[in-house]
Amino acid sequence: MRIDIITVLPKLLAGPFADSILKRAQEKGLVEIVVHNLRDYATNKQKQVDDYAFGGGAGMVLMIEPIDRCLTALKQQRDYDEVIYLSPDGELFDQPLANELATRKNIVLLAGHYKGVDERVREHLITREISIGNFVLTGGELPAALVTDAIVRLLPGVLSDETSALTDSFQDGLVSPPVYTRPAVYKGWETPAVLRSGNEKQINEWRFAQAVARTKQRRPGFFKPEEDNNP
Ligand code: SAM
Repeated sequence: MRIDIITVLPKLLAGPFADSILKRAQEKGLVEIVVHNLRDYATNKQKQVDDYAFGGGAGMVLMIEPIDRCLTALKQQRDYDEVIYLSPDGELFDQPLANELATRKNIVLLAGHYKGVDERVREHLITREISIGNFVLTGGELPAALVTDAIVRLLPGVLSDETSALTDSFQDGLVSPPVYTRPAVYKGWETPAVLRSGNEKQINEWRFAQAVARTKQRRPGFFKPEEDNNP
């Protein structure tokens, strides 16, 4: 899979992909993450990519021309399944959407900044808008990194234990059961004896019951009654 991220602040994206699982995924050739500096596609010497909003008001707006030039250059090299603009009012990002995007071959993530992008970018140049929540950040770089992380960890071969992503919260309509590690008792706080029993059947039943109880308590909207019966 290839993920191209367009931004005015590429430095903000130097960190998130340079360590741990995302770094290894790139080294193994399982994903290619390419960050593009929008200023490289500016048309004037000042590398200007933003301008005042028509009609006035506070905040600069990212211009359509550099974005169009960047997207055109990318599209000349390959076909893209999705060109996504990160936007506070976009479709809310969740696990099913991450699962869906993880099946794509090439996607572009466009990070906005300042007041956002010229509306014509949204009308004509993108296929989809994604929000990471009902709050406003200064730029689309963190949302782009977040979406990339959620997608890449789902790609086959990225996690060392292939079942790990499948047992994470939301994959089966349930949140994760609690996890514990050594010491078995700390300051008198005990870990559940069943998890140390070695009885796989009982452990699985305990985990499932915990996941169901937690989902009902923390995400009641996600809970589907028939899951009560799934062992
Ligand atoms: N004026 C915009 C509004 O009120 O909707 C906010 C612009 S915000 C300061 C700058 C950029 O940050 C946006 O263009 C978008 O790319 C990104 N951004 C901010 N919050 C976001 C969120 N919750 N989800 C996705 N992207 C977000």
